[in-house]
Amino acid sequence: MKLIDSHCHLVDEKVAPIVDEVIGRAERVGVEKFITMAGGRAGWSKLIDLAQEYPEVFVAFGWHPEDITKEEDLIDMEGLIIKTPKCVAIGEVGLDFFYDREKETKEVQLLMLSKQIELAIKINKPLVIHVRNAEEEMLSIMDKYKSSFRAHFHCFGESQKLLDRVLSDNHMVSFGGNITFKSAQILREMIKTVPLSRLLLETDSPYLSPEPKRGTQNEPANLVHTAHFIARELKIEVEELTLETNKNTICFFGLEN
Ligand SMILES: [Zn+2]
Repeated sequence: MKLIDSHCHLVDEKVAPIVDEVIGRAERVGVEKFITMAGGRAGWSKLIDLAQEYPEVFVAFGWHPEDITKEEDLIDMEGLIIKTPKCVAIGEVGLDFFYDREKETKEVQLLMLSKQIELAIKINKPLVIHVRNAEEEMLSIMDKYKSSFRAHFHCFGESQKLLDRVLSDNHMVSFGGNITFKSAQILREMIKTVPLSRLLLETDSPYLSPEPKRGTQNEPANLVHTAHFIARELKIEVEELTLETNKNTICFFGLEN
């Protein structure tokens, strides 16, 4: 089985010191490509190093809603994206109003997301979008930009209403390891409404380890568990799921083989 982890955080401070082991463990179980991102300046140079060192690692630069900064920084980010051939997306970006402190940054979050969507359109790159507790705001941004941008809505956890819109606007979607949790019945219902041609696979590691690894630090090797689980839910063979989602990931992000 050859899997692609379409969303992981290999430069996270918990992962960076052991990244060689983490990539090695993943490759031994068949996870052969990785799209890794940093949502802020602190991680960007580490991403460039990683992309140079590992041919199987692709990267995305973005401003994450939890790491909001000044608009001027987007100019630096654009420069980095353009001079990094293995940069395949702008990400992760998005909206997150889960915590009270995040609600206070609502205006900045909306502005930064809009600016990054405009940049994505300008330089013709897809976006990787995180949305939590921000459904109505996301829908109004989607109304504003219509289908002028392409996005991967990762670790989907909002409602069916937003999922329907993501699909009708031709975006891609993936679910994190939490889809394997007993309490996540609603996610298991939602994934069944996603055509196979629009689905990607991800770990979002080091967060959200799937069963049976729940409670441990997540890593791309655990994608095997999520893939088997999703294939069972969709009542298809894991080989078919892998084949289709790999095709989607390669095509959507323009990964070189
Ligand atoms: Zn993430």
